[in-house]
Amino acid sequence: MHYPSCMARRNSQSTWPDTSTQTQPLTCALCEREVPELVQHHLIPILAGKRKGIKPQDLPTVGLCPACQQYLHSTFSINELATSLNTLEALQADEQVQKFVKWVRKQPATKGVKAKGRE
Ligand SMILES: [Zn+2]
Repeated sequence: MHYPSCMARRNSQSTWPDTSTQTQPLTCALCEREVPELVQHHLIPILAGKRKGIKPQDLPTVGLCPACQQYLHSTFSINELATSLNTLEALQADEQVQKFVKWVRKQPATKGVKAKGRE
């Protein structure tokens, strides 16, 4: 698969939005909850990208909440993610993902998926 290289050349005009200082709420692309932190989910897993000769930084990513990201990686194999679930649309259309999203939307966004520390 080939990716257009034109995207990397638009440096002369500084029309890029400065994403580093944005303070808008973070919204998970999959469950659409507003969460304190997002993780960059590689739509094509890094390992699969390597096989195709694509550098990790050139792989498409979406911002997901840690719960969704963890779910995808514990449910699907790298192969499945790389071939049939490599777009946000494909993930959203997947029946298993839909079930998870339905469930996770009822969970409080601030509840961490990691072990709780002292209160
Ligand atoms: Zn999510």
